[in-house]
Amino acid sequence: MTDKQWQQATRAARAGVDEDEQFGAVMPPLYLSSTFTFAGLGAARDYDYTRSGNPTRDQLGAALAELEDGAGAVITASGMAAIALTLELLPTGAAVVAPADCYGGTYRLLQRLAAKQRLNVVFVDQTDTAAVADALAGAQMLWIETPTNPLLRVVDIAKLCQMARDAGALSVVDNTFLSPALQQPLSLGADLVVHSTTKYLNGHSDVVGGAVVAKAQSQLTALQEWANTLGLAGSPFDSFLTLRGLRTLEARLRIHEENAAAVARALQEHPAVQRVHYPGLPDHPQHDLARRQQRGFGGMLSFQLRGGEPAVRRFLQAVQLFSLAVSLGSVESLVCHPASMSHAPFSAADRKAAGITDALLRLSLGVEAKQDLVADLTQALDAAAGSAALQLAGQTA
Ligand SMILES: *Cc1c(COP(=O)(O)O)cnc(C)c1O
Repeated sequence: MTDKQWQQATRAARAGVDEDEQFGAVMPPLYLSSTFTFAGLGAARDYDYTRSGNPTRDQLGAALAELEDGAGAVITASGMAAIALTLELLPTGAAVVAPADCYGGTYRLLQRLAAKQRLNVVFVDQTDTAAVADALAGAQMLWIETPTNPLLRVVDIAKLCQMARDAGALSVVDNTFLSPALQQPLSLGADLVVHSTTKYLNGHSDVVGGAVVAKAQSQLTALQEWANTLGLAGSPFDSFLTLRGLRTLEARLRIHEENAAAVARALQEHPAVQRVHYPGLPDHPQHDLARRQQRGFGGMLSFQLRGGEPAVRRFLQAVQLFSLAVSLGSVESLVCHPASMSHAPFSAADRKAAGITDALLRLSLGVEAKQDLVADLTQALDAAAGSAALQLAGQTA
């Protein structure tokens, strides 16, 4: 039912739609069954057991593979399961080059696998291509995240993937922060894309899930076999919900981005803010690269408050429309304090090296009205700066 000429938005909205031959259901049914009958002795059908394969999960996998332009996808129970699955492609002792400021869970997994000699891991600042080239000598996998979490640094996917290929290493891009609506790493030369579908793909903060999309059939087959062997496939119900969320991916991202742009400008103008990290701002160090490589700047940003941790506390107490929580990419706006939340797995020294200070806050912009978000942030920043307290003192005096 899909046409190769269709735009991403059309493909996402139409994924699995109007394909039911039994009843003509417009929306695809949910198959919760854990097991499927054999037609007879030795006559397996397309599906026999849901750990190995499930029609609902496959529908989501096919939709994601289409959006990422891959041979296929494996849907996993979480983003971390997708990352762990990808690392199964490597033999024991293989070297992995990963970003120094990678996602906290990825960092913890790589650290622990390195500690027990399962893998050799080198963390590098991936904006420093000479350092990446050095680290790639003898490596078997290059792990890429762009934009990075939480500082929104952007790295050149095409260049890094070419370097990996030259070194004989597989390249993997964690595309969680932008989704295929805004960035397609496989088209830029990556071998594999991983997602936490928990974030933008599902988009409603009610599913934890993940996916690995492979460019080549050979890697897809190996991933499918490992997913079945380890039993880390996603549940049919979660797949159903994620497919439902996926249909509005493009529409949601347009609003997420519009809100992020408005908030970034407002933050930049507020005296309580020292620095805003958003690739859409012309003064972002990789603004031009982001413009070239991405179809949009996304809905995530971070900023450095003046006044250290006391200001952070005042801000968080005052803010109303941003819930203090980890995760991102959903319809509701969230605020996160990376040093104590998403990046708590990092040692203090590694956090410092990655540029994550105690006064850094990360925002995931939802789809609320942008004037409400800007107004709420402005009053919370006023409170953070202490001006609200001063005004109050002025009134009572
Ligand atoms: C959330 C996240 C993950 C991990 O995904 P889970 O679904 O929480 O297991 C991996 N990478 C990035 C960039 C993330 O934001």
